[in-house]
This record gives sequence, structure tokens and C-alpha cells, in this order.
Amino acid sequence: MRRAIIFATHNTHKVEEVSAILSPLGVQIIGGDECNLPDVEETGKTFEENALIKALAGVKFLGRPVLAEDAGLSIEGLDGAPGVYSARFAQLHGGYPETFEYIAGALKDKSKKAYYTSVMVLAFSETEYYVFKGYMHGQMAESPSGTNGFGYDPMFIPDGFDMTLGNIDAETKNKISHRSKAIQQVYDFLATRE
Ligand code: IMP
Repeated sequence: MRRAIIFATHNTHKVEEVSAILSPLGVQIIGGDECNLPDVEETGKTFEENALIKALAGVKFLGRPVLAEDAGLSIEGLDGAPGVYSARFAQLHGGYPETFEYIAGALKDKSKKAYYTSVMVLAFSETEYYVFKGYMHGQMAESPSGTNGFGYDPMFIPDGFDMTLGNIDAETKNKISHRSKAIQQVYDFLATRE
């Protein structure tokens, strides 16, 4: 399959992860920065609503198919927070190191189980779009470790591993991540439309 997909995000980590997964399959990813996509306000209450807001805004702006994602981390001991507010939660705490300290303190006697969600919306027009979801389960570490990945990765230990994503190489993360599970479905869907 040879085609290019516009990925409506300004997050270079996300563009790198999705490109690494799709380029061996012959699909080129073009990030939002390259087509001057304007930022949209994420006013939704769910990952799906926010991914849809981003995808439809992209399709409206560019007049061609757009892929968008909304993702985040849900922690059992924090009643599912930060969830859709993952990026804003870290900003509110003054950055990721401060957020990790807050999480470690708040989870002292609480469940450390957590999972990442990725919801991808592939929009062909403002009325024709498809939704794909991927998850990665694990638990929060007691303190951050490692510098690989981005966001909450230094605090997240995926199930089946004894180290955080901060210490796990990109190739391995891309085999097990919420994002890779969602994007694989996008790829399979596109293959059926060839
Ligand atoms: P979004 O760009 O609105 O989807 O926000 C996603 C936020 O969720 C990021 O800024 C991170 O805080 C968090 N997040 C989502 N996926 C990941 C991941 O793979 N690793 C670490 N943090 C993530």
C-alpha cells in the first residue's frame, strides 16, 4: 500500500511513533506542522469527542482526508484521572517532573493500576469518518525512571515488563503501545479500501 496520510497533530513524538509503525508498510505520515494546520480547542469530554474535533477541523481546513488522535493516561487510584486532561494536568502541575511527584504522593495507599488510551479518527469528509481504539495496560511506578518516550512514559510500567517505558526502546514501545494498536487498525482498514 503506497499512500500519504496527514496526521493532525503538532506533537512530534506522536508523528515519529506513527511514522515508525507505518513507513515500513509503505504509508507516509505528514505531520500537522507541515501543512500549517491551526490548533483547535479540545472541548470534548471523551477521547473520541476530542479526536473527532481535531479530525473534522483538519478535513475542513485542508479539504482532504485527515487522521487525528486523542490519547491519555487513566490511573485507577486517581479515579481515572488525568484521562482526557493528561496534557493539561501536567501543565497545571508545572511540568512532568512535578506531576510525577504529585502522582507518586497521591498513590501511596491507592491502586497504581493504569492504562493508556489512543483513539484515532480517520476522516474523509465532515460526514464520513471512522474511529479506531487502542489500549496499553500497566501500572504507575513509585518514581520516574528513564528518558525514552515522552509525557508520562518514565512513570508507566507496561504489563509484562519490570521497567518503565522511559527505559524501554522505541521499537518495543511501538509493538505494545495503545497508539500502535489503534494505528494498526487504521492500516488494516486502509488496506481494505485499496
Ligand atoms: P493529546 O495530544 O491531546 O492527545 O494529549 C495526549 C497527552 O496524553 C500527552 O501530552 C501525554 O501527556 C499523554 N500521553 C498520550 N500518549 C502518551 C504516550 O504514549 N506516552 C506518554 N504520554 C502520553
